[in-house]
Amino acid sequence: MEKYDVAVIGSGPGGYVAAIRCAQLGLKTAIIEKYATLGGTCLNVGCIPSKTLLSSSEHFHTASTHFAEHGIEINTPKINVSQMMKRKSDVVEQTCSGIEFLMKKNKIDVLQGWASFANSTHINITTEKGVIQIESAKTIIATGSKPTSLPFATIDKQRIITSTEALSLTEVPKRLLVIGGGVIGLEMGSIYARLGTEVTVVEYADGLIPTMDKSLGKELRKVLKKDLKFDINLNCGVNSVERVGEEVIVKATNKKGEEQVFTADYCLVAVGRSAFTNKLGLENTNISVDKRGRVDVNENLQTSEPNIFAIGDVVRGAMLAHKAEEEGVFVAEFMAGEKPHMNYNLIPGVVYTWPEVAAVGKTEEELKTDGVNYKVGSFPFKASGRARASSDTDGFVKVLADANTDEILGVHMIGARVADLIAEAVVAMEYRASAEDIARICHAHPTFAESFKEAALDATDKRALHI
Ligand code: FAD
Ligand code: NAD
Repeated sequence: MEKYDVAVIGSGPGGYVAAIRCAQLGLKTAIIEKYATLGGTCLNVGCIPSKTLLSSSEHFHTASTHFAEHGIEINTPKINVSQMMKRKSDVVEQTCSGIEFLMKKNKIDVLQGWASFANSTHINITTEKGVIQIESAKTIIATGSKPTSLPFATIDKQRIITSTEALSLTEVPKRLLVIGGGVIGLEMGSIYARLGTEVTVVEYADGLIPTMDKSLGKELRKVLKKDLKFDINLNCGVNSVERVGEEVIVKATNKKGEEQVFTADYCLVAVGRSAFTNKLGLENTNISVDKRGRVDVNENLQTSEPNIFAIGDVVRGAMLAHKAEEEGVFVAEFMAGEKPHMNYNLIPGVVYTWPEVAAVGKTEEELKTDGVNYKVGSFPFKASGRARASSDTDGFVKVLADANTDEILGVHMIGARVADLIAEAVVAMEYRASAEDIARICHAHPTFAESFKEAALDATDKRALHI
């Protein structure tokens, strides 16, 4: 029987990064993945294919609606769905094979099959050729998550779909009904709205992306309605989803208690994801799960079996690829006897709509609830020369700083390229910068990043220069 220092179950961004770091630290490492391709949700049916289609659809939308104002005259552009999907599959394939290369480079054994604990040190792997067993001194569970459905909605994968199917449609729907105005609903909705689909969003909460700072959802709602003609229904809880022939009928109850009926060709159910531990054999260990099925871990991501750790979407916290990666590195280093550190407050969140949305640290609502004395600085992109040059004037940057110490407590942005701009805010907060620190740093002109400096100036003592 093959023996390993570490076995990693699952090859998503949590698992493969943990495996690489373990190998770098000199540990004999195996990674077990049930699918033939490595990379997990993120590379196969998550971050990478969605961003690929967002990019293609954005080109189409820009060519269709904005080229003329730039003085570029073209014939009416047309969509070739199969070519768009082929490009997406090519990008996914290249990215996944990159992970295979990294496994080889780091001498990590890749074992394809379904992993299940026989006990806390032995793992059965069901492969095409039968069951093999390995022994591992330590194990990292990185089995990720699956889409959640609603109790009354049957996902038929044809008309009532999850993000996985939405990433591979063979046509541009005429009408798409999206249940859930969260990240997946708005990213996938944007892809198809840009291609010409009438998109209706039904959201239970009183705002879009409701877990983020409320100002972001408000601005995003305005722009999605204006630019992509989204029909957005807030305070509206879906209570039935039914397929009738080639249509889907969705019934919901609005704030006034009235029933609203929506009819569409496709219904995307995007109401969150759940931790995945099916057939993992946890019953053969002392590992427990919480009410939401997530593996219980302590502050070191250790389960109740001291030699077994869990990371990423299968444990508490944000379901984000970069959070899973950081946890992978943390666990590898902790197991190797190092003293790693993770600051969960500084995990940025990004929504890849257009305009993009990005945030780090506390929201204004959280600061109010915590009774923190804070001040706000903001800067609208319409006052930015760079934003005007590219006609990207929607959105703003908002800086929240401690009213007494001036330390930056949260940064919330919506606008062009803020997915990349947020990195500066993360660095600033990691080094516990004050708003004035940012205000005094030279930012190249003309850039979108100047807007962060201007918002920091506004937070410092209302001395923004360009508003
Ligand atoms: P996963 O990536 O889910 O990987 C788990 C792996 O474990 C899978 O490959 C699975 O097959 C394998 N596995 C499970 N059980 C077993 C078993 N018993 N034996 C063997 N293998 C097993 N996050 C971002 O940060 N940015 C984004 O832009 C973004 N976009 C997204 C878009 C979509 C449409 C979706 C659905 C998600 C997106 N996410 C994004 C979230 C991101 O994909 C996840 O947070 C991330 O993949 C979690 O990584 P993980 O390693 O914990 O698990
Ligand atoms: P989400 O939690 O972001 O949004 C789900 C939304 O559905 C919520 O706003 C919720 O109020 C709403 N909802 C729930 N039940 C409802 C009902 N009955 N009727 C109407 N609305 C209802 O979840 P998601 O969009 O499915 O995404 C899942 C996870 O994937 C997220 O945790 C996210 O972090 C991750 N993800 C991240 C990115 C990114 O980082 N850009 C992209 C896609 C997915």
